[in-house]
Amino acid sequence: MNIKQKEIVSKSILTPGRGLLEGYSHSLNPYAGCAFACSYCYVRQLPVGLFREEEWGSWIDIKTNAAELLNKELLKARKKGPVTIFMSSATDPYQPIEAKMKLTRRLLEIMLENQPDFLFVQTRSPLVKRDIDLFQQFGDRVRVSMTIETDKEEVRKAFSPSAPPIQARMKTLRELTEEGIQTQATIAPLLPCSKEFPVKLRDIASRITLDDYWMGDGSGGKRTGKLGIKKIYEEMGLEKWYNPAAHKVVLKMFKKEMGEAEIRISQKGFDPY
Ligand code: SF4
Repeated sequence: MNIKQKEIVSKSILTPGRGLLEGYSHSLNPYAGCAFACSYCYVRQLPVGLFREEEWGSWIDIKTNAAELLNKELLKARKKGPVTIFMSSATDPYQPIEAKMKLTRRLLEIMLENQPDFLFVQTRSPLVKRDIDLFQQFGDRVRVSMTIETDKEEVRKAFSPSAPPIQARMKTLRELTEEGIQTQATIAPLLPCSKEFPVKLRDIASRITLDDYWMGDGSGGKRTGKLGIKKIYEEMGLEKWYNPAAHKVVLKMFKKEMGEAEIRISQKGFDPY
């Protein structure tokens, strides 16, 4: 897909945490729009996705003044109390354009100068390993979460053909963990997977989080219903997986392999710390 890129000047960069992110003081999105264009992306149903005339995944706004704003807003926020940041809630901070723009990296450098109490980094991109040197300087104030919704590449291709391959994500997550960074393998939203999935994730992340549309889309599955992705399940003959009970079966598999201690469910897996 041809992606339209636009440089914009934002009014603010730190957004107060609310809804599923109410445990955070702020969320931080270096970009608006997302080239990964996942079919199940709940942002498609938010105003930023709904009221733009272009298709989700076909445009990216680059917040050129993000670093300057963050510098100012971090100082202000710290005066008011603990600062806990979720990056990012409505875009992927390591989507392909970041390789060239290095905007997310600049934001990390600013946060190192004036450290938040906690930073949660959410991505599905192997590009995140470029910034290992910076994450190491945050110590236990950062957790890097890698989305791995399935271990089946054909399923990934059906639901998010523009997102990075599963194997590359697993490899990156292992590297981050081996470099001493707190990590998380985030199975969200859970997609059809194999029985070997727990073994594949067992040793590559500090912990696992499991979530699905019904627990995690902020509307009990209604937003996801409007996206029409049930059709993808049907086309693949996998409709039994489009079910709020499916996560229980997968959870049982993971508990058997890993015990309860390292597994979190839905919102708890995205809480600070
Ligand atoms: S990577 Fe995240 S923000 Fe981007 S399209 Fe996929 S779900 Fe949406």
